[in-house]
Amino acid sequence: MAKTLSPVCKLCRREGEKLYLKGERCFTPKCAFEKRSFPPGQHGKTSGRGGNASRTGQSDFARQLRAKQKARRIYGVLERQFRRYYETARGRHGLTGLNLLQILESRLDNVVFRMGFASSRSQARLLVTHGHFTVNGRRNDVPSTLLKEGDQIAIREGSAKLTYFKELPAYFEKRTSPAWINRDAQKMAGSVSRFPERLEIEATLNEQLIVEYYSRR
Ligand code: SF4
Repeated sequence: MAKTLSPVCKLCRREGEKLYLKGERCFTPKCAFEKRSFPPGQHGKTSGRGGNASRTGQSDFARQLRAKQKARRIYGVLERQFRRYYETARGRHGLTGLNLLQILESRLDNVVFRMGFASSRSQARLLVTHGHFTVNGRRNDVPSTLLKEGDQIAIREGSAKLTYFKELPAYFEKRTSPAWINRDAQKMAGSVSRFPERLEIEATLNEQLIVEYYSRR
């Protein structure tokens, strides 16, 4: 399972923006970025090379690197796997950057998150790893599984009895799912109707810079 080892909130501070990695907490005053928006390891917004000021004079390479790291952190993908996704995206027809984003969006843990079964991708990853979901009727505990159009996702029969899933309908109302996903809130199931358009993916991701990053090496 792909996971990053540094404390999650430090990743937001490193990127200089909120990446919304911890679900509901990200929308509360408890969000670490609200209190300390300067990079980790620095003592204040005005110290040394700290704060957003250090980001203004970035080289092209630094901007490309940051764009790639940001996407990797949002989707919780390790470097080697991210590069493999890039290579796959490059081999497909169409725009490599959009292909890459669509591959990331089609991961099982992301779709579980998008459907509203979890408040964050990391929580979705954990739920998948614990075997709580089926894909096309078969138990699937591999978060990195790339789903295809038409794939059906449901809560495994045995898991539906767990308190977490019994209480889930109350959260479904607050969590909307994107148009490229069919969700049946009553059956607690859904399917991938198509791959997302660019406008349906995080607008702050810069796939062009990611493509430039990998193209130069
Ligand atoms: Fe980032 Fe969420 Fe932590 Fe805030 S609470 S720093 S948005 S992961």
